Amino acid sequence: MSVVNQPVWDDGSWTVFPAMHGTITTGTCVIGLGGTGLTVIEELLVRGEAVVGLDAADVAAGAAGRNGGFLLAGAYDFYHDAVRKHGRDRALAIHQATLVEMQRIAEAAPGTVRFVGSRRIAADEWEIADCQAQMVAMRADGLACEWYDAADGVGLTFASDASFNPLARCRVLAQKAVRAGAQLFSRSPVTAVQGTRVETAQGTVQCDRVIVAIDGRLEVLLPELVGRVRTARLQMLATAPTTEISVPCPMYFREGYEYWQQLPDGSIALGGFRDHGGPSEWTTDITAGEPVQTALENFLRTHLRVKAPITHRWAASAGYTDTGLPVIEQVRKDVWALGGYSGTGNVIGALAARAVAAAALDDDCIGVRRLLGDGWSPAVPTVVVPASV
Ligand SMILES: Cc1cc2nc3c(=O)[nH]c(=O)nc-3n(C[C@H](O)[C@H](O)[C@H](O)COP(=O)(O)OP(=O)(O)OC[C@H]3O[C@@H](n4cnc5c(N)ncnc54)[C@H](O)[C@@H]3O)c2cc1C
Repeated sequence: MSVVNQPVWDDGSWTVFPAMHGTITTGTCVIGLGGTGLTVIEELLVRGEAVVGLDAADVAAGAAGRNGGFLLAGAYDFYHDAVRKHGRDRALAIHQATLVEMQRIAEAAPGTVRFVGSRRIAADEWEIADCQAQMVAMRADGLACEWYDAADGVGLTFASDASFNPLARCRVLAQKAVRAGAQLFSRSPVTAVQGTRVETAQGTVQCDRVIVAIDGRLEVLLPELVGRVRTARLQMLATAPTTEISVPCPMYFREGYEYWQQLPDGSIALGGFRDHGGPSEWTTDITAGEPVQTALENFLRTHLRVKAPITHRWAASAGYTDTGLPVIEQVRKDVWALGGYSGTGNVIGALAARAVAAAALDDDCIGVRRLLGDGWSPAVPTVVVPASV
């Protein structure tokens, strides 16, 4: 019997923060206590800013605590695709920045990251050729990439990548933030952002600026982003510890649609097959279900040849953009939005967090422009602002 909608990462050793009540006045209100929101808070605290953080459910209750646990360099696109789409300079700058950010993630949450590399396995002849193109592009720019050819497939190994426990990392960040003076609240869903007044079910935060750090469902709270950020459901399962196979590092297959790793206790965490669910996976619902769970189970049994019992099945929301690059912008005056990492937000989300803190507090746009290009502007877009969320 498996645990439904609980990630394998949750060891149950966490006390939920209290809900917010009454009225609080502060410098910055951060909405969303996932990896991105908590990194924003870390950056704000370094700058001496007073911070209130709110989450609808709890620390890392969204994708940040329910993901595959891959820390991969680069953004959504494979490197050669990123060069083609964004230009060589920007693709390289993003890649290098993510390599640095992975080290920062490891330092900020000691013991949660394992630098074991990662591996892309091709699903067919076309993808083998695509791996070759990726290797040529990466090596031309001095990035670590090795050809891989073994019994379990052909593809590429990236020595700089890592595996981590995403939920444990967020919990460490949250505890540090509280110790450094942040006021964090769980079970406090934001119902409206009216200027710089943030309304929750039972309270109000009046602040100088709001930073919304929600990946999936971003467009629900900020409807001006409808059409630019689209929420999808991603699903995973995990097995009991097993010695049937030995998986040395995070693996991904079929252009990253399927992904799996073996945790230190031997259990296998496997995700993917979003496309097998068709249009019904473009949803804000996070119920783990069919047909994706059956596809995952079939892959586990036939492709990975693992018979170990399935102990966990879960899902979470992730925000997608057409460009594969995140949304980082001041959507309304003093209201900043971060999200849309297209299923790869562990590292880019943290980078986006640091970049937005610098832009919003210091008028320093270098970090955002590194990700989104020199044309990026902190100016509020001219859009019709809905009267309320
Ligand atoms: C199954 C799955 C596997 C993935 N695997 C990987 C991977 O291996 N590597 C990788 O890089 N990326 C992966 N991703 C993507 C990655 O997890 C996300 O991009 C990243 O975690 C986003 O973090 P975040 O902090 O920006 O947002 P989220 O984790 O989405 O956090 C947002 C928080 O905001 C809260 N919230 C939402 N609405 C409100 C509201 N109205 N009021 C208050 N709070 C609110 C939520 O409760 C949540 O805690 C995966 C995603 C999924 C779903």
